[in-house]
Amino acid sequence: MNSVFADIGTSVFETMSRLARERDAVNLGQGFPDDPGPEDVRAKAAEAVLRGWNQYPPMLGLLELRQAVAAHYRRFQKLDLDPEAEVMVTSGATEALAGALLALVEPGDEVVLIQPIYDAYLPLVRRAGGAPKFVTLRPPHWTIEEAELAAAFSDRTRVALLNNPHNPIGVVHGTDALKLIAKYCLKHDAIALCDEVWEHLTFDGREHVSMMAIEGMRDRTIKIGSAGKIFSLTGWKVGFVCAAPPILKVLARAHQFLTFTTPPNLQAAVAYGLMKGDDYFFTMRARFQRSRDRFAAGLAERGFSVLESAGTYFLNVDTSPLGQLDDVAFCRRLVEANGVAAIPVSAFYETEAVRTVVRFCFAKSDATLDAALARLSEAARTPAIC
Ligand code: PMP
Ligand code: GLN
Repeated sequence: MNSVFADIGTSVFETMSRLARERDAVNLGQGFPDDPGPEDVRAKAAEAVLRGWNQYPPMLGLLELRQAVAAHYRRFQKLDLDPEAEVMVTSGATEALAGALLALVEPGDEVVLIQPIYDAYLPLVRRAGGAPKFVTLRPPHWTIEEAELAAAFSDRTRVALLNNPHNPIGVVHGTDALKLIAKYCLKHDAIALCDEVWEHLTFDGREHVSMMAIEGMRDRTIKIGSAGKIFSLTGWKVGFVCAAPPILKVLARAHQFLTFTTPPNLQAAVAYGLMKGDDYFFTMRARFQRSRDRFAAGLAERGFSVLESAGTYFLNVDTSPLGQLDDVAFCRRLVEANGVAAIPVSAFYETEAVRTVVRFCFAKSDATLDAALARLSEAARTPAIC
């Protein structure tokens, strides 16, 4: 068996969701909203299943979706993408990431990763033969330090993998941070592989800036998006990848032997959704911001130390003021004794793990958040067990 996959356990999201089901806990672990998503978009998918095309769509994706992706990014991020040569549809962002790493990395190439890292990245980098080099962010500000970038990049760096907005920490890396990373990509002739699935989930008036918009990066950035996050339909697994034609051509070679295509009916519905008026996107964002604020206020009232969340579905708590110095033990007790599932952030580190931060998903109804808060009151009062 290949050691990369033989030697790793079940993902922390799956593990916590299973525990939540077994314990009948409120599940604020795995990141998914508990509303059903926009009805008109779902109706389009249903209509396309019943009356549309249900055979293989084109390998690069339906042209109408690729056009909608280009128009959407022009409208919201001022990017100028050729839908025919620079956009491809994938089965979720996960497939786009896997395909990109397989397409870019030669055995021994170095890949820069910014910890905390989304769980799929490291196994995929390793399976592609890449040698990971880590840049480590720490609470409470999670700042990208230039000295760490300088140490991580070298002339062997093939790819820098960046998640912005950043899961699990809820940071929106701004233009200055992007320029800093760009400086090292340019210096070492590396490609920026940018997982921007949370691009629409930015709060307090923050605008998402794509790495593609940073000077010098247009043609060395691979931008990945996901309809799952844009439409609160995380199970749909419709992703898109944008890159300059010579790069996209190679990504398509990997994609054609991974999934080849993505369900055409869901693609048609996503094409419709991406063309919705600005209103939908701003209302969606405002709704999540309101949930964030409600949950943050409830946590603070109960004595939790809440870290800032500028984007994503996630809010983090620093457990050290409670005397809790082991996030895994804390989360286990939280689900088993208090009935709330959360995610220990140490799971997102390969080295120098931060062990005092716990992630909660706030993308839930008021009733779900309030039920979780009622259970969390007790957890804040319970003395440290570790
Ligand atoms: N990247 C990041 C950073 C994510 O948080 C997620 C899922 N939440 C994904 C990728 C996976 O996206 P998809 O479901 O479209 O594969
Ligand atoms: N991206 C989701 C999260 O961060 C989980 C997705 C998954 O379970 N693979 O919670």
